[in-house]
Amino acid sequence: MTWTVRSPATKEVIGTLEETNGEQIHEMYASAAQAFASWSGLPISERIRFLRKVRLQIIEELDQIVKVISDSTGKVSVEALTTEVMTVVDSISHIEKRAAAALKTKRVKTPLTFIGKRSYIEYKPRGTVLVISPWNFPFQLSMIPIVEALAAGNAVILKPSEVTPLVGRLIEKLFTQAGFPAGLLQVAHGGKELGAALVKGKPDFIHFTGSVRTGKIIQTEAAKQLIPTLLELGGKDPMIVCADANLERAVQGALWGGFTNSGQVCMSVERVYVDQSVYQEFVDRLVEAAQHLRQGTAADSDIGSMTFPQQTAIIKEHVTEALDKGATLLAGDHPDKWEEDQMFIKPMILTNVNHGMAVMQEETFGPVLPIMAFETEEEAVALANDTRFGLNASIWTADLERGKQIVSRLITGNAVINDVIITVANPYLPYGGAKEGGIGAYHGDVGMQGFCVQTAVMVDKGRRKKEVNWFPYEGKYELFVRLIRSFWGENRNWRGFLAAYRQLLKKEPRK
Ligand code: ADP
Repeated sequence: MTWTVRSPATKEVIGTLEETNGEQIHEMYASAAQAFASWSGLPISERIRFLRKVRLQIIEELDQIVKVISDSTGKVSVEALTTEVMTVVDSISHIEKRAAAALKTKRVKTPLTFIGKRSYIEYKPRGTVLVISPWNFPFQLSMIPIVEALAAGNAVILKPSEVTPLVGRLIEKLFTQAGFPAGLLQVAHGGKELGAALVKGKPDFIHFTGSVRTGKIIQTEAAKQLIPTLLELGGKDPMIVCADANLERAVQGALWGGFTNSGQVCMSVERVYVDQSVYQEFVDRLVEAAQHLRQGTAADSDIGSMTFPQQTAIIKEHVTEALDKGATLLAGDHPDKWEEDQMFIKPMILTNVNHGMAVMQEETFGPVLPIMAFETEEEAVALANDTRFGLNASIWTADLERGKQIVSRLITGNAVINDVIITVANPYLPYGGAKEGGIGAYHGDVGMQGFCVQTAVMVDKGRRKKEVNWFPYEGKYELFVRLIRSFWGENRNWRGFLAAYRQLLKKEPRK
């Protein structure tokens, strides 16, 4: 079937593409397995050479890539460039530097009780990795898992979001142009049925980024076949502004953290808690600053359009419910005034909100900043932790020690002091969520390692006839009690330990 794709911002047709037929899935897994057989045997340096080519291909086509992303999502070009393309090239560059070290076999210590043995961990690719990605950062959230999985030696099948399918095709093209072997990175173009069929096709690993709802469905399906999964899900991320914060910076940070990509960011600021002593000043400054944001499709616009029309309905629901329950809208338009298919949603600031409202509990995923005042740090921490999610948080204070102490009390996969969102862009840090924020982490060394089977190995030279823990057990119980007491008791008794060990060694197999 041929798909006609429209820009969410202008509603103009931006391209067409062929949907992948469900019957091709079997073939795709077969090609992936074939490609995996040779790719996994290449030295890491050789795989890195290919990935470097992708990086250079991206640099070569920077403007065209930005245009496809921007046309597909409605996000402004500076954001397509910085939050999508720049993050991806930096990640590839990080992999080029770190892959050999992250994936090399690692020697670990062996306790004395295993005298004569050596231990190490070997990282081996899993096979075919299925990457299922969303529409909010369709380039970054597809490319980073892909390049990490490939660096680790896997083959990849990508199922990009049906909301932004041209980005999937762009990725497919990039890898072809960079000369990747056929079958190594394949893109399945289609919707959730295709995604579900790919899960049933039994990949060796699933990397999913998207909603909590879909994450649970995928996890359930994967569990039926015990397919390991990594889930990157939602957030309801709190921002805590202490009385001693640099208020101008906090205002600008809230503005960007709440409204970048029209708030369609799992790590965006979704709830703001401000110390009551600076609350009014913060709110006034934020409302004033929000008025200077430019929204549109121009090159110098700050905020673009929404990407997915259905998301607008969720935002409308949350904001309307809050207003009905007594919240005050200090910036933006009342949802009643929105047109039917309006995709440019003016940034909204809400006060007089509380945790009985969906806007403080559910992921809004839109340009909405609801703000509450707090009296004590204790209260701020309790409010921040009062959520099903746990992806990201930010703390704003001049006292870095205090900021770190607050971080230690938050249940969150990521936290930033005096900045927002940015941990996801540091490729040396792992990226993953707590609670309904997700399961598992990628990025950093653990990212590449996560796409591997870790084989724990112990090696014995095999010269001794037997081990002390082997049969027969006759007379061994007492000796082991002595050995354990003398080795792990309060004071180590070497003599007792060695005596017991020697006697254990002397026990001969029954003839
Ligand atoms: P969003 O993109 O709004 O976060 P989803 O979480 O539903 O929405 O979608 C993320 C990705 O998951 C998309 O690529 C979508 O096609 C895919 N998807 C949705 N439902 C399923 C499913 N049941 N099985 C596999 N993939 C799915």
